[in-house]
Amino acid sequence: MHALSPDRIAELTSLRHDLHRHPEISGEERATAERIARHLTALGADRLWRDLGGHGVAAEFTGAGDGPTVLLRCELDGLPIREISDLPYKSEVAGKGHLCGHDGHMVSLLGVAQALKAQRPPRGRVILLFQPAEETGAGAKAVIDDPRWPEIRPDYAFAYHNVPGRPLGEVGLRSGPGNCASRGMQILLEGKSSHAAAPEDGLSPANAMAELMRALPDLAHGRIGEPDFALSTLTHAKLGAPTFGISPADGELRVTLRTMTNMRMDALMEEALALVRSHAGALRVDIHWHDVFRAVINDPDATAIARQVAENLRQHSRDMPLPMRWSEDFGRFGDDGAKATLLYIGSGEDHPQLHNPDYDFPDALLPGVIDLLIGIVQEIVGPTPA
Ligand SMILES: [Zn+2]
Ligand SMILES: [Zn+2]
Repeated sequence: MHALSPDRIAELTSLRHDLHRHPEISGEERATAERIARHLTALGADRLWRDLGGHGVAAEFTGAGDGPTVLLRCELDGLPIREISDLPYKSEVAGKGHLCGHDGHMVSLLGVAQALKAQRPPRGRVILLFQPAEETGAGAKAVIDDPRWPEIRPDYAFAYHNVPGRPLGEVGLRSGPGNCASRGMQILLEGKSSHAAAPEDGLSPANAMAELMRALPDLAHGRIGEPDFALSTLTHAKLGAPTFGISPADGELRVTLRTMTNMRMDALMEEALALVRSHAGALRVDIHWHDVFRAVINDPDATAIARQVAENLRQHSRDMPLPMRWSEDFGRFGDDGAKATLLYIGSGEDHPQLHNPDYDFPDALLPGVIDLLIGIVQEIVGPTPA
């Protein structure tokens, strides 16, 4: 398999811009998935799965002989954030934008598909997975829970995320904990409403909320990189209705919990629950969990393969000293048994951060990233060394 020509890169870039114009958010990626499936069919995929765990699409490119299965994964979803930019290909969908670069990740995998169209691997299988609902943490789990997943289940899994703040094109690698576990805790408190003239006849959650708003962030502990690192961030608070006549009955708090390991997350959840109960008194407490991300623990062998390929291609690589605070649902593929690693590719030191309203995927990454992914595939299902 060879590197793509400048013409092919230009085609992929303009496809990226078109995907950028039409973002779809988590769980609603119908049109994007349809488009991707059409491209994969045109590129001669040997097998195609649709509607995987929602709107997921996967394509298989089958090698001539027996060998391992290597999966490359990208994400289909945009974000419910209004894009602020002067780009000619700015989002045409109000309040939604491709502000995490998943449009760039998608065309990178289509670039690999072009190389596979030109030349099948000599052995094994290559699966290109276009995963839905990454931003909510639901998609990878849903894909793995799909009854057809056993037909796909890979031996190796790779994905990359572009990382603003790092030098453009730098290949960041990290063996072991790579991204934090995180989950949203929705705390519903219910008491009894009363006339504002007689609050003592009701049961307002106001005091409990005020105490919890101070106490929950105090669950934070240690620093990123330390195994007992924990972060608890208050993201939302709501008390009663906007009136002057009612002492409220209900309140809601939302907190995001974050840890470096899954085990520490279990402990942090217990601490948060105990704290809520200790402040709730006679209030009724209802807890719901959302956006559950498992920690990404990168496999050392898969990471070593990526490092070797970057070296062969003379791409600058670097061992990341610390795990990322942000979460990624890619960790599920490692939990499922694949040797999996997430690559952190620099988007430029001064690039706007992920999820910023003025963020855009840097197209300059495409040629290098596609070469790197093709190289990884070749390393695993390429010719057996003599
Ligand atoms: Zn994102
Ligand atoms: Zn992302």
